[in-house]
Amino acid sequence: MANSTATLEEIQSFKGAYPKQLWSLFFSEMWERFCFYGMRGMLTYFMVYHLMMDEKLAQLQYGATQAFVYAFTFIGGLFADKILGFRRSLFWGGALMIVGSILLAINPKELFFLGLSFNIVGTGFFKPNISSMVGQLYKDGDHRTDAGFLLFYSGINLGAFFGGFVIQIGKGTMLSDLIPEALRWNVAFSLAAVVMVISLVTFIFTKNKLGPIGLSPLNKNQQISNSRKKIYEYAVYLGALLAVPLIMKMVSNTTYTNVFMYCVGPFSLLYLFYEMTKCTRAENLKLIAALLFILFSVIFWAIFEQAGGSLSIFAAEHVSDKLFGFISVDPNAINNSANSFFVIAFAPLVGLLFIKLAKIKLEPNGIIKFGLGFLFLGIAFYTYYFMRFGANANGIGSVNIFVLAIFISTLAELFLSPIGLSLMTKLSPQNLQGFMMGMWFLASAYGQYAAGLFGASISPDKTLSKIEKMNIYTQGYKDFALYALIAGIILIIISPLMKKLMLEVK
Ligand code: GLN
Repeated sequence: MANSTATLEEIQSFKGAYPKQLWSLFFSEMWERFCFYGMRGMLTYFMVYHLMMDEKLAQLQYGATQAFVYAFTFIGGLFADKILGFRRSLFWGGALMIVGSILLAINPKELFFLGLSFNIVGTGFFKPNISSMVGQLYKDGDHRTDAGFLLFYSGINLGAFFGGFVIQIGKGTMLSDLIPEALRWNVAFSLAAVVMVISLVTFIFTKNKLGPIGLSPLNKNQQISNSRKKIYEYAVYLGALLAVPLIMKMVSNTTYTNVFMYCVGPFSLLYLFYEMTKCTRAENLKLIAALLFILFSVIFWAIFEQAGGSLSIFAAEHVSDKLFGFISVDPNAINNSANSFFVIAFAPLVGLLFIKLAKIKLEPNGIIKFGLGFLFLGIAFYTYYFMRFGANANGIGSVNIFVLAIFISTLAELFLSPIGLSLMTKLSPQNLQGFMMGMWFLASAYGQYAAGLFGASISPDKTLSKIEKMNIYTQGYKDFALYALIAGIILIIISPLMKKLMLEVK
């Protein structure tokens, strides 16, 4: 039978560890993350050194873009469920990201915020919906689902890892002989557009193999005429375009961002409660479980995301530069890329381990995995804390222990983040899949927001000695470790209750 007519049953009855469609989604997402993280890596630097913005303001605006990106996933997911379906949303989001990157490539200085806003809206339509499609490749109760998400997560990080190098083209520390100085940033931003085109082309080929997965929910609705369906679809496109100047305004003034963040979370909760009035009791129990996972994930990201904030300063000031005592390294480079490296290497292995454990009926369920994620996070932050004991008189601790801590926090991430994606698809009814995935990412937006506040709360006074500063940071990490352990223990204690809420979902 031709792939384009494959039924859901045929797709979901695959043999082996992974469905073959997963690989296509893997590559589409890999290129999208390359574009996203490539751009994200350039933002603050470009704002400070080329737009000549004040450092503090640049950081605030960077934070605002991150908050908007993840907040918009909730809107992208919602419209996918109601009107576009996952495929068109993904395509539309990808197209907006291409436009945004092209604008930045044409004139990064003049069109910076416009290009960025296109990318924010585009990511909102792309990111949650590709993850939801991964979930649809699996039948309810298929024990291989989490492994699939772990492999997919490896693709995310592969893109993120390589995207992180694009900034070097702009700065002229890579390919500088080939690209004239005046054009380096244009080329760097245009690369984001090129990889996004590759992502969409990959998806066009995938589409034929997806059978009914990701089609518009309106297709099945006989009560609405085709012309009306088209009107709805174009209204979403128009609405998204109108959101671009609005976001531009809000990102440029971070006070608006704060207001937006205060409103979007409560609004999404109210909307969820409204949708729950239309669900069956069984669906509602699972949605409550999903919501609890989402709320716990805010705490997780608030601690984990110290990586992009306080830990980058800690790496610069308090970590030695000799790995194993003789390999010269930049502790900041380690802080930026070790996590992606460990994810790429270990995510598929952890996934296969879960499949093996399931065969002998020993695979932990989603709640226990989540709980373990928190426990690993606690151990990772205790490891950062322990760096104070081997520190020298200048308050510099061992990079070996620092790498070990990053490794443990990566394990924590692997037990929580891909499993969270998987749980969202398992716990949400068909008509709320995109919305719940959007809420999952919205929690990341709040987590990142809280991470900034947490980080600021342990930021030592500039006048202190290096050893005193080391002690303040590590004391902060010890506190975070304790919060993570408490969260993990609470999850494990409430696991019987969560199991009841999750019904048949593992
Ligand atoms: N790093 C992962 C990604 O880009 C997870 C992001 C998140 O949920 N905060 O998809």
